[in-house]
Amino acid sequence: NKFSEMGIGNDIVRALNVLGYKEPTEVQSEVIPHLLAGDDLLVKSQTGSGKTAAFGIPLAQKIDWDERAPQALILSPTRELASQIGEDMFNIGRFKRLKVETLFGHASFRGQATNLKQRTHVVVATPGRLLDHIDQKTIDLSKIKMVIIDEADEMLNMGFIDQIEDVLRELPKNFELSLFSATFPDEIVGLAENYLVNPTEIEV
Ligand code: AMP
Repeated sequence: NKFSEMGIGNDIVRALNVLGYKEPTEVQSEVIPHLLAGDDLLVKSQTGSGKTAAFGIPLAQKIDWDERAPQALILSPTRELASQIGEDMFNIGRFKRLKVETLFGHASFRGQATNLKQRTHVVVATPGRLLDHIDQKTIDLSKIKMVIIDEADEMLNMGFIDQIEDVLRELPKNFELSLFSATFPDEIVGLAENYLVNPTEIEV
């Protein structure tokens, strides 16, 4: 199995089998080894390329199950995309028993806050609701070590760049950061220049 050869553990490979993922897609072949190695990435890819699993598989692999506070943060521009990513992360991490919490507006803040008190490995969030949890001190970001900004160009279109920077400022030093986007307007290039460390650029 190509995923095992990349260094993905059995519990995750088993989950990929259930999902019917037998071989990595092109973006997965490119991205997974870099994220396993801890590199920062700038990835140009479209929806439908398998990009969610391209970051989801290595994130799931690198989670330390014993840590109670969230270790991975995935930022998404919309509720719909956030719930899709949350579902994909749950499916990928099911046999590793990963706890995934998805945070977006127009859903119970208190329910989310209660869930965040339990063990949580991965947080998928829209920027606004995540900032609400930061303001209310209902999320512990002190153990975050991996961050993905998905659909960065959509974040820009929706006016979320300042909010993303507000979130990044709340994180501990030395987190790994990757940015996924279909297009790279100047503002996204600027964000990358400010926050990514020696990024590897991938285009599929
Ligand atoms: P995405 O680009 O993340 O929206 O994924 C597009 C579709 O491809 C989704 O329906 C995934 O479930 C599917 N997919 C992702 N990776 C693989 C894979 N390695 N093999 C087969 N299907 C996949």
